[in-house]
Amino acid sequence: SGRRPGVSNLLLVVAAASSGGLVAYADSGSDAAVEQPQLPPRKKVVVLGTGWGGTTFLRNLDSRLYDVQVISPRNYFAFTPLLPSVTSGTVEPRSIVEPIRRVLEKKGGEIKFWEAECFKIDPQSKKIHCRSNVGTSLEGNGEFLVDYDYLVVAVGARTNTFNTPGVVENCHFLKEVEDAQKIRRSVMDCFERASLPFLNEEERKKNLHFVVVGGGPTGVEFAASLHDFVTEDLSKLYPSIQHLVKISLIEAADHILTMFDKRITNFAEDKFGRDGIDVKTGYKVVKVSKDDITMQNPATGDISVPYGMAVWSTGIGTRPFVVEFMKQIGQANRRVLATDEWLRVRECDGVYAIGDCATINQRKVMEDISEIFRVADKDKSGTLTVKEIQDILDDIYVRYPQVQLYLKSKQMNGIADLVRSAKGDAEKESVELNIEEFKKALSLVDSQVKFLPATAQVASQQGQYLARCFNKMKDAEENPEGPIRIRGEGRHRFRPFRYRHLGQFAPLGGEQTAAQLPGDWISIGHSSQWLWYSVYATKQISWRTRMLVVSDWTRRFIFGRDSSCI
Ligand code: FAD
Repeated sequence: SGRRPGVSNLLLVVAAASSGGLVAYADSGSDAAVEQPQLPPRKKVVVLGTGWGGTTFLRNLDSRLYDVQVISPRNYFAFTPLLPSVTSGTVEPRSIVEPIRRVLEKKGGEIKFWEAECFKIDPQSKKIHCRSNVGTSLEGNGEFLVDYDYLVVAVGARTNTFNTPGVVENCHFLKEVEDAQKIRRSVMDCFERASLPFLNEEERKKNLHFVVVGGGPTGVEFAASLHDFVTEDLSKLYPSIQHLVKISLIEAADHILTMFDKRITNFAEDKFGRDGIDVKTGYKVVKVSKDDITMQNPATGDISVPYGMAVWSTGIGTRPFVVEFMKQIGQANRRVLATDEWLRVRECDGVYAIGDCATINQRKVMEDISEIFRVADKDKSGTLTVKEIQDILDDIYVRYPQVQLYLKSKQMNGIADLVRSAKGDAEKESVELNIEEFKKALSLVDSQVKFLPATAQVASQQGQYLARCFNKMKDAEENPEGPIRIRGEGRHRFRPFRYRHLGQFAPLGGEQTAAQLPGDWISIGHSSQWLWYSVYATKQISWRTRMLVVSDWTRRFIFGRDSSCI
């Protein structure tokens, strides 16, 4: 290959020699014509994205084994759980980002990074089409092609507007660091505008009406952190207009935080009520104009409210180039890339998908669950007793904790209803449930688009799992039968991916957080806030960001939040 020996190359020589990969000798091209071992070409791994999935994959990958290239339009990793804190100036934007080149440097400098975005995947020729995003004056518009043997798609998702008119033009999103910075500036602009001498009371009120659309974890946390910013800091700086501030949280469902335990939902709604945050549940936003937000409610019909700033946070959608890719590979009817339990994109050789852009193959999971039902129906009567049903569900929960998690969500209540009715009848021991009814409920679950929640927790566990598989891939290729026998037909090289749910937080402002931990352990209040601080300090990906974040929190405790419009 003519490679000059360097520390990492020497490592490769040692690695190749130890694995019997010493195949030929070649001239190094240096003045001393020393013969060198020619390394077998390493397989090319291309990683798309430097978010939770991509970065965790890279940090865990043994990069000496592959020729690794990373492509992402942003050259840093962002710690998204702290984005709401950036909107209020509790934490500075630079404190939650880590330059990706610094992450790669720690891997020995073997990994190449291109700041560009992929706009097309060609699975037939195993090439991806990319466009640099650092200037359009580049030759050919900065477009280039990259070959891969293995492609890891970890491009996340974009905000879903449900094609609601006016959202893109008039609302802020909260997905990227830039979004959080824009929101912070916009909040301050609203206060400064409302303070101008020539405005009347109505105009001041309009400017100080902050609307958050979407009562999920992000919308709720943003509303809470804005409320803290206003009451703890801005009310002192803008005393004459502070009584005009209004924060509204609009949610189409009947409650906010529906993916959490009912106790957390109730606590959050009560707390927001006490704090004066106007929680409007059962309202669907249908249009956003420059001055008004129009929403629909079956009881009230259409209502329009003037607003100063709106943040749209109603869930996630698929990136356009991923939609195109899905059409090419026969997944056009899905909203996220379907993978099997080994995170391989179905019907697509060498392509893997992790994080928000992917989901595990639900059909396979459903087949497994059906199998559990079939086995449980020992007497083949086609009916199951309540006890059998409960045993089945315990078995499902052990194998698929995410099912249990999602049974709580409104969409999944098909099975949940059946279970509830089964449990309700539990005292009458004679009651039996028809297995066909369960199958019907299962098909309800199957029609759901996503199986795993779109969280950093899932993305990083998938990144770690996939890197471990890649690290063992060579061994597995030499022993294709694989060491592990998996239940069912056929042999696989690796154990399938299993998500381990470690719990979730919902910060509610006023130094209070709700925590739902494994085993349905619920904790709400100040003690959970301290748990939140410690978990997020621990989860930082470098000591640098950990120090910065902790010092930002300390600065905020001592001096309050910064209200300048920089
Ligand atoms: P991302 O982390 O979004 O990374 C996607 C990467 O792909 C980025 O680097 C992006 O630049 C890159 N990319 C985009 N397009 C292209 C392209 N065309 N070509 C190449 N690269 C591309 N989860 C939790 O578990 N706990 C929380 O507390 C939590 N809080 C959150 C708060 C907010 C405000 C938000 C927005 C999310 C939060 N999440 C939380 C969810 C979590 O951030 C996501 O689930 C997680 O980021 C998904 O990781 P990912 O790797 O799939 O995508």
